[in-house]
Amino acid sequence: MTERKTAVVTGSSSGIGLGIARALAGQGMNIVLNGIESEEQVEEMRARIANEFGVDVTYDRANLMNPAGVSELMTGAEARYGRVDVLVNNAGIQFVSPIEEFPDDKWQAILNLNLSAAFYAIKAVVPGMKARGWGRIINIASAHGLVASPYKSAYVAAKHGLLGLTKTVALEMAEQGTTVNAICPGYVWTPLVEKQVPDTARARGLTEEQVKRDVLLAAQPTKKFATVEEIGALAAFLCSDNAASITGTALPVDGGWTAQ
Ligand code: NAD
Repeated sequence: MTERKTAVVTGSSSGIGLGIARALAGQGMNIVLNGIESEEQVEEMRARIANEFGVDVTYDRANLMNPAGVSELMTGAEARYGRVDVLVNNAGIQFVSPIEEFPDDKWQAILNLNLSAAFYAIKAVVPGMKARGWGRIINIASAHGLVASPYKSAYVAAKHGLLGLTKTVALEMAEQGTTVNAICPGYVWTPLVEKQVPDTARARGLTEEQVKRDVLLAAQPTKKFATVEEIGALAAFLCSDNAASITGTALPVDGGWTAQ
């Protein structure tokens, strides 16, 4: 029997990370879930993924805002499974403000979680991937890794930086059987996005359908949200042997946003 692969998916207690974790569990991988929710909040979904796909699933509540938290997550995964074959750097936060009012602490927090955490996690898994001659690193960037929008200076800077990190590590790992790619989602229907709809509708005097179409999806030509299942399926494909030659890329899943 071939040994199960192990995937660490950061920020996977919700949204896109959870969709990716489910898709990789569907490929027979053991999964390390991560997020900042309590164990009790995540237990039901942890158990559901384990039962549905017959794999081992653990939850690590490491806070990835600082290098010690990233180290705790990666060390814990190595200790439990002896290997990390797939690393998905997904945890991320957003803050919106004009540049002259942008709070210094928000700038730093976004760079810490959306960019530096990926650097520290990659640094931790690369030696094992090199030793085994196989690995997959997937960084969840954004359409905002490719283009900008006003008032999102820290997020756009961090996501552009994440694409630079992706390309650099892809080159360093090119002969090591390890691919390194970024997925660049446009607007994805996640609990985070869903929660904004009623408030925005009230604030702007619009219907919820108008908010979705004319506010949230204004830049997304398909006028449809991408889904966490679509992102999960792409991540699963990137982990397959058929994707061995795809490395150093930034793959948009954005309904045509960055084609404009
Ligand atoms: P979400 O808010 O639903 O989930 C965020 C996850 O990150 C949660 O699991 C949360 O626990 C975890 N998290 C937050 N702070 C953390 C910390 N300090 N340490 C560890 N984990 C932490 O978000 P989402 O919408 O699924 O977004 C996931 C990723 O996808 C982010 O990097 C985001 O920038 C990117 N993205 C999202 C969209 C979208 O439309 N939803 C679009 C483009 C890119």
